[in-house]
Order: sequence, then C-alpha cells, then structure tokens
Amino acid sequence: MNVVVTGGAGFIGSWLCDRLIENGHRVICIDNLSSGSKENFQHLLRHKRFKFIERDVRDLIGIKGPVECVFHLASKASPIDFREHAIDILLTNSLGTLNMLELARKKKARFLLASTSEVYGDPKEHPQRESYWGNVNPVGVRSCYDESKRFAEALTMAYHRKYGLDVRIARIFNTFGPRMRRDDGRAVPNFIVQALEDRPITVYGDGTQTRSFCYITDLVEGLVRLATTDALGGEIVNLGNPQEVSILEVANLIKKLAGSRSRMVFKPLPQDDPVRRKPDISKAKEILRWKPVTPLREGLQATIEYFRKILKVNISIRHGY
Ligand code: UDP
Repeated sequence: MNVVVTGGAGFIGSWLCDRLIENGHRVICIDNLSSGSKENFQHLLRHKRFKFIERDVRDLIGIKGPVECVFHLASKASPIDFREHAIDILLTNSLGTLNMLELARKKKARFLLASTSEVYGDPKEHPQRESYWGNVNPVGVRSCYDESKRFAEALTMAYHRKYGLDVRIARIFNTFGPRMRRDDGRAVPNFIVQALEDRPITVYGDGTQTRSFCYITDLVEGLVRLATTDALGGEIVNLGNPQEVSILEVANLIKKLAGSRSRMVFKPLPQDDPVRRKPDISKAKEILRWKPVTPLREGLQATIEYFRKILKVNISIRHGY
C-alpha cells in the first residue's frame, strides 16, 4: 500500500511509520516539525519506501501518485500546549483535517482519523464506550483540543455520509513509551525525568484522578488493525488500555522502577482536568480482535530506559564529554 501519515515525526506517528515500513508499505510522512522531531525517524530517511515532506497540513499539499490510505495524526496533543497553541490546534484539527479528507477523496483512499478520549471530556459514564457523547466544557482551556477533535470527527463522518469515503475513527486514550518528548508536560515523561534526576515528582491535585495508560506498540497494533481490516467504513473505536490507575500510583511506581530518591510534591490541579478515564474496549476486541498485551510495569521500564539514555546524552553534552 501507499500510505500517508500526517504527524509522522511525532511520538505515535513515528512508531506507526516504523510499523508500516516493517509491514512492506510505502510511507509518505507529512509533518511541520512543530512538536515532532526528525530524530524520531532519522533511521528511516534512507529507506527507499519512506519519504518525508516537511509541510503543514493546514496548507494544501499535493501528493504525486497513488495513495491507498491516509492516517491523519497531525496535531499538538499535550495539555501544556493548550494555552500557548490553542488557535494553532483548532486550525490544525479543522483545516488540516479538511485538507487530508480532500486528499483521501481525490485519491479514493481509506482515511483513519486519530481522535482522542478527550472527546469524552470529564466523563459522566465510566468506563467510556464509543456510544457515549461526552461531557466537554466548550469554552474551557482544554476546549481547543477537545472541540476541534470533535469537529474533526464530525467532518470525517460527513465525508463518509456524503461521499461514501471509507473512514475509520480511533479514539486514542493515554499512550506512553519511548520517543515522548522530555518536555512534553504529560504525566509519564514528567514523572520519569523528575525521578531520574532525583527532583521532586509533581503530582497535580491529590493524585486520586485516574487514567489508563497504553504502551505505544500495543496502540500502533490497534491503529494498523483498524486501518487494514475490511468493511469497517464509518466505525469509531476506542483504543487504549483498560487498566485504570490513579496518578499517585503511577508516580510511585515510576519512582520505584527508576530507583529514585525523589519526593512527591502536590501542585494545583489544572482546570477541567478529567477525574476518571478508562476505555471500554469491547468493540475493539470484537471487530479488530485487539487488546493491549504490555503490562504497565513493563512499558514503564522500557520508557525509563529510553529516558535514561537520552538524559545521559544531554548531561554528557552539557559537560563536554
Ligand atoms: N499530571 C500530574 N503531574 C504532571 C503532569 C500531569 O499529576 O506533572 C496529571 C494531570 O493533571 C492529569 C494526569 O496526570 O490528571 C494525566 O495528565 P497528562 O497530561 O499525562 O494527560 P491527560 O490525560 O490529562 O491528557
């Protein structure tokens, strides 16, 4: 297959590019490198089936030749970006999604939208099933992401209904692993970097809020299955790990696995921070025969090792070794 991956320089996108190349596909990666990094796919640049186009999905991008599948992942997605880059995020998920849907329509390609558990907002239904409509503050600090992803979903379904475009929507829950940015601001990279540097671990609120963390290779497997399984046009599927943990538990586990002397410090809870989040993955199990297989502890260990390496490099550069 000829596949386009937008956001292919990002954390999830670059793992997806790796996997698609491994599976024998041709990959065209589009990224403006605003939050992703070339280092994430440096090893693919010489590969003859990999091509990188440094462009912004908000611009019209022409692609020569056939395309059978578009994976649309491009968007800043970390809560620390929501204040500074709100307009950027709103436009990427609206105009960018429109442009990529048009590309898929012209090429008669399948279209997979990387959506998010954020469409459920601070959920009143627990665990969250795909049929739940969500509880989103439309004007809060997270709304730039939540509402633009909801818009992207609506636009994707409109293309499906009006043009018969073969679309699939993945609602991605918290995902972690190597290649997350160290300054990404999310819980897992923050806690790991703080633990490895023996700095205080910053728990927001009292740490009783929950999340469900999926390891990157499991998530990528789900994305590939969702895109490559036939007869799933118009389907919306939760992808995530249903093992629910409190943020304080995750902080303690990371501290232990990293062998850290850090202490916990409690900071104010950000506005509209969801209290609970856990996917119901019955649908993915049924139609994709998919479920996560990597235990949290194992995934965290691999991620800690990754950060240990990159922090060592940074320290040696600083000291001129
Ligand atoms: N969080 C925290 N300390 C941090 C970063 C995040 O306690 O240094 C909390 C955050 O308030 C939220 C949870 O961890 O309750 C997960 O946050 P993250 O930014 O990883 O993703 P979210 O699920 O909020 O999009």
